[in-house]
Amino acid sequence: MDQDVKRKYLEAGKLGKMALEYGASLVSPGAKLFDVAESIEKLIRDNGGKPSFPVNLSINNEAAHYSPFRGDQKKFSTGDVVKIDVGAQVDGYLSDNATTVEVGEGGKYSDLIQCTREALNAAIRTLRPMISARQVGSAIEGVISSHGFKPVRNLGGHGIRRYDLHSEIFIPNYDDGNATQIKPDTVIAIEPFASTTIGMVHNGPGGNIYILSGTKIRKDEILYQNFNTVPFAERWVADIMPDYKEYLRKMMGSKEVSQFPVLKEHSTSRISQAEHTIMVLSDEIIVTTK
Ligand code: MN
Ligand code: MN
Repeated sequence: MDQDVKRKYLEAGKLGKMALEYGASLVSPGAKLFDVAESIEKLIRDNGGKPSFPVNLSINNEAAHYSPFRGDQKKFSTGDVVKIDVGAQVDGYLSDNATTVEVGEGGKYSDLIQCTREALNAAIRTLRPMISARQVGSAIEGVISSHGFKPVRNLGGHGIRRYDLHSEIFIPNYDDGNATQIKPDTVIAIEPFASTTIGMVHNGPGGNIYILSGTKIRKDEILYQNFNTVPFAERWVADIMPDYKEYLRKMMGSKEVSQFPVLKEHSTSRISQAEHTIMVLSDEIIVTTK
């Protein structure tokens, strides 16, 4: 890997880690999701980066893809199982990391939270160039199952490229039989999710996170100029134009923009997540967000 590219990935990782730790310190009973998300993103910008994607604050049975909207009054409550998922970019080189906290630290979900951390560590220990995706998934599944929980089978890790948060390789959270190998010089995110019930998420309502659609990108368009091809928040569009709702509606109508739905299980389910970004180099495995 080019030394300059490597340095930028490392810097993005360091900043992403700092943002995640800061975010975890802000999640408390009565805190507004909007304030927490904006504070985390401000920290990234104040330190010379940009968010890789909008801060995700997904609660309880939600696994991913909820980001607060402008005017959002939603607050954290004691006992909430909160997935904080954030990343930073430096010149388009991205990091992506996540952790789970139980609001108020009652400890009811400590094992659920701990098992995804352990699963992530076990997955990282398997890494070497040309390991298959299914072997990484198998390590994750083994740890989560041994704690009596279900790995979420339709979520997983992914390759990362410049300005591309979800590039082609998929890293499953179980042994899905996929023999695709991780080539040297690949940057990946590994993200085990564990569920107390089913282990399969479905699409909920829109979570206020959008992305430009691949085939129709106009490089002189305002969203591309501000966010390139990484996901962006409705809040960020509101910051650059007054009629943001109408503009997003129009861009979705012409299929130039798509919206991520919140990914969730049924209401009694609780889900935890842990995530790191890792560089799989020919001679070295580097966790950029550690
Ligand atoms: Mn993530
Ligand atoms: Mn990810």
